[in-house]
Amino acid sequence: MIAKTREIENTRRLTNSLPTIRYVDPDYTYYAVTNARCNSGEVFVKPGDYVKVAQQIGLRKGPFFEQPIHSSVSGTVEGIVKKFHRNGRLVEFIKVKNDKEYIFVETAKERTPEEISKLTREDFVQITKDMALVGLGGSSFPTYIKFQTTDPIDTIVINAVECEPYISADHRLIMEYPFRIYKGIEYAIQAFNAKRAVICIKSKYHDLYDCLTSAKLRFPDLNVEVKKVGNYYPQGWEIECIKSGIGIEVPAGVLPAKLGVMVFNVSTIVGLYKAIRYNIPVLKRNFTITGDGIMYPSNYRVRIGTSLQELIEKSGGYKGDENKVLIMGGPMMGANLVRDDAVITKTCTSCIILNEHKEVEEPCVRCGSCVYSCPAGLQPVSIMQAVKNNDKDALKNKLNIRACILCGMCSYTCTSKIHLTDYCRKAKKMAL
Ligand code: SF4
Ligand code: SF4
Repeated sequence: MIAKTREIENTRRLTNSLPTIRYVDPDYTYYAVTNARCNSGEVFVKPGDYVKVAQQIGLRKGPFFEQPIHSSVSGTVEGIVKKFHRNGRLVEFIKVKNDKEYIFVETAKERTPEEISKLTREDFVQITKDMALVGLGGSSFPTYIKFQTTDPIDTIVINAVECEPYISADHRLIMEYPFRIYKGIEYAIQAFNAKRAVICIKSKYHDLYDCLTSAKLRFPDLNVEVKKVGNYYPQGWEIECIKSGIGIEVPAGVLPAKLGVMVFNVSTIVGLYKAIRYNIPVLKRNFTITGDGIMYPSNYRVRIGTSLQELIEKSGGYKGDENKVLIMGGPMMGANLVRDDAVITKTCTSCIILNEHKEVEEPCVRCGSCVYSCPAGLQPVSIMQAVKNNDKDALKNKLNIRACILCGMCSYTCTSKIHLTDYCRKAKKMAL
């Protein structure tokens, strides 16, 4: 366990002090027609059509909401192709050839400070809906729904913990764009008429603390605290972040808004800044590519829709053994890719590329490590048994599988190297 902890400590050092490389001129970009939350979609363009930056080119449709699809470049539509989504599934993407002129659609227009000061909560709902802003930490939850709450919000919590190993995309975002973060917070405070905001960062990252507290000097009237929280995983889980950041315990099944708290990931708050100030969707994002299987681990500022293969090439290509494990997202909660033919969508934080070290699963020794480590207080070993026995009733009614956040801790701590989180994923589907 100690060795594992040290390994994790070192993984982020591969990239967190390297300046972000701007890679914003890909020859082609790709936009998913469907995703995990929207299982169908409509395409508004056809091959040969000319599109502009921030133009809506389609609409994803899900059971509860719809999401506009925007182009992040200007250029010509080539057609529909199949590529891998960040969830590891092969889906249809709209392919656009980038003319590198970056001609913006007419609706992308800067609002003056006076115009922004007059925006109402309803305006925030409409703008974030039109701009398809979602949780950029990976949750992809639509931001406009957060603005629709009728609960009074007292405190905005900015989750800048980025607790998964290896990833430093948000770390670099904070170091390089603190002004945008504070402006986004200012807008969120205005929308909710909140009293204060608290930015939560891991206590060991002194560079982030110094950067954020220095930048705060430019916003003397903004009631924002930079709060150092724990260095452990899953400190970035919303419930843990609220508890450590502002001392409120959110009971299971209760929305933080009911307790006067609204949480935004730090990347989302930058997306909010862009949507409100410039009326544009998320066109670029920070992305980490790292691991022992890539030549030069790096952080990139990439245009949404960039191909992962281009970034692998840009990072010097693969290193080491022929067999690789590719994880889109963090190693604890990310999805495995079977091929590198994937696309960076707005909710992709990273790709971890590892040389494959095969670990053979052994029988359960009833050590209880998985139970002790579960932040949701579940019994992963019993969940595994219920899945094996196809016991849907136990999963639903006794083992509370809905409370599982798929954090990966049970797999990580399992003495017998059992992939317990895979069982939890199956269990969630079985209990639907
Ligand atoms: S993935 Fe495992 S450790 Fe994490 S919440 Fe679910 S059962 Fe608990
Ligand atoms: S950690 Fe692994 S070996 Fe220990 S009880 Fe859980 S499943 Fe069994």
